[in-house]
Amino acid sequence: MIIFKTEADIQNYLSDLRLKGKSIGFVPTMGALHAGHGSLVIKAKDETDCVVCSVFVNPTQFNDKVDFEKYPITREADLALLLEWGCQVAFFPDVEDVYPNGMNAGSEFDFGYLNTILEGEKRPGHFQGVGQVVSRLLDIVKPSDLFMGQKDFQQCMVIQKLLELKENPYQTKLHICPTVRDADGLAMSSRNKLLSEPQRTLAATIYQCLVSIQSKQSTDSFSVVQRECLDLLTNKDFIPEYVSIADANNLSLLEDFDAKRKMVALIAAKIGSVRLIDNLLLN
Ligand code: AMP
Repeated sequence: MIIFKTEADIQNYLSDLRLKGKSIGFVPTMGALHAGHGSLVIKAKDETDCVVCSVFVNPTQFNDKVDFEKYPITREADLALLLEWGCQVAFFPDVEDVYPNGMNAGSEFDFGYLNTILEGEKRPGHFQGVGQVVSRLLDIVKPSDLFMGQKDFQQCMVIQKLLELKENPYQTKLHICPTVRDADGLAMSSRNKLLSEPQRTLAATIYQCLVSIQSKQSTDSFSVVQRECLDLLTNKDFIPEYVSIADANNLSLLEDFDAKRKMVALIAAKIGSVRLIDNLLLN
């Protein structure tokens, strides 16, 4: 595995590969890597000639300063895991490498409706930051294939929109990969490392709620199941931010189950100071 820090060095290496007709698979991450990230790297290895994984905790996508400051950083362990997964190129830039003209440079992206609901509504500025960093990383790596997790369902839609807004200059294909979970159903997440042991035990409640929404979709009304989930989460020490269902194709929010549509249930909730999100396709 080769490790790069600067744009010039990685571009030099990748442009050579591109000239040889090799496909480049890209997995952008914020580090504190886990098996969920591993599944993306392994999928990218299966599908492309060279896998690039970036590790960069992007300051511009944190709407909450404390969340940024306590975001876990496990550099040595990340490198060891990337080696184990067979990643060929690791990109570990600093803020100045990603934003040489400062963090406020660059234009705003019009993500429209996507920016007004769920994560867009609850985390103002978050998707602008995500768009800014992914746009910049795409311009550095110029990947043929981009691998992202369904765990961040809305983010995948935002990135698909970003590719459209940028007129997809590298003809990048977005691959959305299934959510990897712990044995009790909790979606793997770097933020899980911040949970105390009792919080970690309770955290699986989010997945239990998603499964309950899925299992009751043809028998109950959503408002009843939603109330049950909100109560259950609150009883287990969560502060729920939303328990919602939406059309999985465009994320338009639904008042009630609609078997004619492809649906997704989405939950965001805080336990202590740790904010967790998860989702499940319903049908
Ligand atoms: P992050 O480091 O949290 O920004 O995540 C980097 C990428 O890994 C994103 O595309 C995430 O959606 C994806 N990812 C995070 N957690 C999981 C998971 N449990 N299963 C699959 N992909 C994941």
